[in-house]
Amino acid sequence: MRLLLLSDIHSNVEALDACLAAAPAHDVVINLGDMVGYGASPNEVIERSLGLGKIFVRGNHDKAASGGMDLRDFNPIAGLAALWTRDQLIQQNLEWLRALPRGPIQIADLPGMQFVHGSPLDEDEYVVTLRDAIEPLMVSATPLTFFGHTHLQGSFSTNDVASDAFRPEYRTIGQSETTEYPIKDGVRYMVNPGSVGQPRDGDWRAAFALYDSEARIVTFCRVPYNLKGAQERIMAANLPQRLATRLATGR
Ligand code: ZN
Repeated sequence: MRLLLLSDIHSNVEALDACLAAAPAHDVVINLGDMVGYGASPNEVIERSLGLGKIFVRGNHDKAASGGMDLRDFNPIAGLAALWTRDQLIQQNLEWLRALPRGPIQIADLPGMQFVHGSPLDEDEYVVTLRDAIEPLMVSATPLTFFGHTHLQGSFSTNDVASDAFRPEYRTIGQSETTEYPIKDGVRYMVNPGSVGQPRDGDWRAAFALYDSEARIVTFCRVPYNLKGAQERIMAANLPQRLATRLATGR
């Protein structure tokens, strides 16, 4: 089975469209949460996402925008964007967001894998370093966890303990690129496909991943997208300017 893994789209429909156009053939789409928040196209992103499949995990921004979380936990810019999003969402989308399942989730057809927004131990926890990853890696019910939340593409594993995280190394700045990462037997992994709509690893290109469960290969992908279009929409919506400028630097 070939899984298309999307996370942290953050209302960036330009980035989502570029990922879908570039995505290799796949059998199922898995969405790891934070569909909304920060960007200016929440309804469009939800409508596209609904058309892609049925497997979703909720993110903290999905909860915040649909009233399921205290905004005091958010920084002022994120809080403002959550309120703006809540205001923009049509009722049907608001209710759909509110009903999204909390991770980790497991799928009967996909044994040995689980899907979560933050950490398998806490859906809102940030797994940034190997130190953060060790406990969830060791105690998880399944050897392979796909997660998001940090907006940092890469992987932690019990095989890479000397080198902290695996981070794909890319050769270009503005072109489409892929990096393959094999999944080995007997090793436990936490794999982050990166953020579609607001990367924070210094690379502005939209990030996603494909996992081929027969070949046991994760393909990390980066694609350029209509950055200017996404920025203009944010400015036109009167969202904080920083939400537009940060997209250009991937921070
Ligand atoms: Zn996020």
